[in-house]
Amino acid sequence: MNKVLGIIDGKEFTTGDTLLELSYLIAALLFVSGLKLLSHPESARRGNLWAASGMGLAMITTLLLHKTGEGAGIPLTNIWIIMTAIGLGAAIGWMIAKKVKMTAMPQLVSFYNATGGAASALVGLLEYPNAVAGDTGSILVTVLGLIIGSVAFSGSMIAYAKLDGKVGDLMKPYMTYINLVILIFTIGMGIYIVASPNQPSEMTWAIYTLMALSLIYGVMFVMPIGGADMPVVISLLNAFTGIAAAMAGFIYNNQAMILGGILVGAAGMILTVLMCKAMNRSLLNVIIGSFGVGASAAGGEHGTIKEITLSDAAVLLSYSQKVVVIPGYGLAVAQAQHIAHEMDELLESKGVEVKYAIHPVAGRMPGHMNVLLAEADVPYEKLVEMDDINPDMPNVDVAVVIGANDVVNPAAYDDPGSPIYGMPVINAHLAKNIIIMKRGMGKGYAGIENALFFNEKTRMLFGDAKNSIQKLVSEIKTM
Ligand code: NDP
Repeated sequence: MNKVLGIIDGKEFTTGDTLLELSYLIAALLFVSGLKLLSHPESARRGNLWAASGMGLAMITTLLLHKTGEGAGIPLTNIWIIMTAIGLGAAIGWMIAKKVKMTAMPQLVSFYNATGGAASALVGLLEYPNAVAGDTGSILVTVLGLIIGSVAFSGSMIAYAKLDGKVGDLMKPYMTYINLVILIFTIGMGIYIVASPNQPSEMTWAIYTLMALSLIYGVMFVMPIGGADMPVVISLLNAFTGIAAAMAGFIYNNQAMILGGILVGAAGMILTVLMCKAMNRSLLNVIIGSFGVGASAAGGEHGTIKEITLSDAAVLLSYSQKVVVIPGYGLAVAQAQHIAHEMDELLESKGVEVKYAIHPVAGRMPGHMNVLLAEADVPYEKLVEMDDINPDMPNVDVAVVIGANDVVNPAAYDDPGSPIYGMPVINAHLAKNIIIMKRGMGKGYAGIENALFFNEKTRMLFGDAKNSIQKLVSEIKTM
């Protein structure tokens, strides 16, 4: 297998090397095509599988064919340690992913992202002495990997804890300045390490200080970010982990790692920008703007709430021509996607046109509503993006809001004092009639009042979404 094929730059190039390079090329193709497939709900599962196979292939060929230093292959004892670690990690990851509820998915993503950041930071920490033996470029890449990986780790852990309700927001105006000071110290320490002519043994304190500063920065950077800005931060931290992994790839001169890291970094950055757009905020504003500060004070809308009975709702829906269902986080909590689909089929059988309006940040993760409704086999052509459905909303007979709140809040248009002012929302308020299903007068993620509930055209149908729709379906069936 390891026949020498030739000599490049004074180094032997064997059959194993060729196979390794080839496997990385195949892995790269699988990553890229996997990413492409992820862009549509119908092909997303396949995309995930393709990209995972690419990663699996790269891992196997690296273990079997990688050369370390002078000798060929990895020592057998190390192989066993590595295999045990991979086996344990895979088993734990599998079990957690199997058990996790759809609504806790963002927490899980944050947690996994933290482990990726930690792995890259540890590579930087361990490889620093080797990097010193190389050139300044190697030290720079190692130090950057250590900083970015540590920030991604501690930041993602805080994001996980915040999303899980284990940690609250810490929003003080002076935090921006404290963060700036920590950042300056971190960068300063990084420059000192890269520029220092000292031996690695004399720099141990500096490298550990750098890691500590980076970890603290990660915590402090995420702590003040609250309210509806969390998804942006998670995506940004995801991009950080990708970049840190790419740095680790540079350290080991491993193309698959570099490419995988860059793809994650770039995809995370693009998603971050798209989400900022969906929330009408600049990235800088997300990071230092402390969205959600004073949010509880905002709003204070007053008016009368009008309820609707199940039979009135059934009549209104059955005799409509156009109905638009606007799903939100509450639909996911209630797991009402299947029964919602049953309702839409029932209405369609009565000649009513039913569509679903999809807001990009409805729920608690990007694409949350698409995933939920796909799970319930709602045809993709029934899902209409916010920008496409909004112009048609005035022609809609009934907007049925199921467990959505922030994404239909008209304060985004008409209340300059509201923290969500300027965020694009679904124009439920323009429909001829509005039915809102929720349990009570609970607020949404941004913690603000919603004038839509007090709108003249709105009727509230209180109760757990699944329960309400179940009863509504029975009622429609009797008509
Ligand atoms: P919201 O969080 O604004 O509102 C959800 C509503 O659902 C609540 O007002 C609640 O009211 C209701 N609800 C909860 N449980 C049930 C239930 N069992 N049955 C019926 N209703 C229920 O959801 P939206 O989807 O409108 O908005 C998403 C928000 O989350 C945005 O602010 C977004 O920025 C943010 N976010 C989005 C992420 C993403 O990537 N998509 C990630 C993290 C945050 P009540 O208690 O009265 O029932």
